[in-house]
Amino acid sequence: MKKVLFLFIIIVLIIISCNFILTPKTTKETLSLTDSITKLNSNSGNLNLEEINSIIEYGDNFVIGAHFPMFGIDSIDLITRNFIQSYIEEFNILVKNHSPQDKNYKSELSIDYEIYYFSTSIVTVKFNIFEFMSYYPSPSLTTSTLTYDLKRKKIIDLEEIINDIPVVVVSQNNSDIISKDVILMNPNIEMVTSERNIDPNKPMIALTFDDGPHKNTTIPILDTLKLYNGVGTFFILGNRVKNNENLLKRMISEENEIGNHSFSHKQLTTISSSEVKSQIDKTQRAVLEVTGSKPKVMRPTYGSYNSKLKSQIDMPMILWSIDTLDWESRDPIKIATHVLDNVEDGDIILMHDIYESTVDAVKILVPELISRGYQLVTVSELYELKGEALQVGNIYSKLYK
Ligand code: ZN
Repeated sequence: MKKVLFLFIIIVLIIISCNFILTPKTTKETLSLTDSITKLNSNSGNLNLEEINSIIEYGDNFVIGAHFPMFGIDSIDLITRNFIQSYIEEFNILVKNHSPQDKNYKSELSIDYEIYYFSTSIVTVKFNIFEFMSYYPSPSLTTSTLTYDLKRKKIIDLEEIINDIPVVVVSQNNSDIISKDVILMNPNIEMVTSERNIDPNKPMIALTFDDGPHKNTTIPILDTLKLYNGVGTFFILGNRVKNNENLLKRMISEENEIGNHSFSHKQLTTISSSEVKSQIDKTQRAVLEVTGSKPKVMRPTYGSYNSKLKSQIDMPMILWSIDTLDWESRDPIKIATHVLDNVEDGDIILMHDIYESTVDAVKILVPELISRGYQLVTVSELYELKGEALQVGNIYSKLYK
């Protein structure tokens, strides 16, 4: 057993060092967005030239959730990332300089965006920047816009035309309209096609993945799960459903579970009841539209909940018993070792399917957990198979026997 693990670690180390040599990493980049533009769009209507990128970070006294579009054009994407990063850096300085009276208080920075295509080249992105600091009397919401010329690959100043101009969506036969097709599966991977036969008397665990889906990282995780006949639970963000429809369909067709992790990763304990409802309902609807069924389980953002939230959510709330801290370490070996050193029958393991390092950790973990005799099941299966019904208003972090 140890030998197998050792071998995997060596292979992964080689892969990582090769990547490091070939592609210098930019600092603070959370997701690499090199999705290939592979296919001319055959649908008329909305232009979807962008791919959503997210930065989710949290600490003892702060939470950050920032979403922004990437167009696959280096010069433009760099400006957007720097723009977002400047808000994050400013926020981090404020957090550092103002320690809250209340130890449980978390300052929040939340950025989402609306996108307006005026043509295939002219695009305006309106960022909504929500900040709530310990010393603010109330949250502050500001907006900021960036307008891009995708053809000339530069930022332009079109402030004057932004207000209330109807969005022009250009007609279809323009070959500039392109969509990012999903490469659903690595064709070189040899899939196990046997039926999943779960024995309720044998050990089982639930691997869970938050904040996705993201093509670059969710697809290889699905590939690894499929290869070993395992499944996972994906607590997705509703705002990432667009352009990832096929990925959600694949999750379901391969017997994975989709859970609700809010629409845009707002901290649900600090927003109004109607905003909570909208965060949850919009995601339920988005998943239903794509897969034909609604999520049955929900994971609160940042794991934050209180009695009010419990009474508002009409789904069981799922936390975790093993936190890999994968978002922090970005170290596949650390992530895998932490799980393997602590795992027990009935565990729910928290990871995020938006990091390359988590993809590599999953490649170590899945075969090793299987060889240790664990069955990889969804959260709902974990409880169903042990004859325990998940109940609305309850919090679950591990199946205790
Ligand atoms: Zn999250």
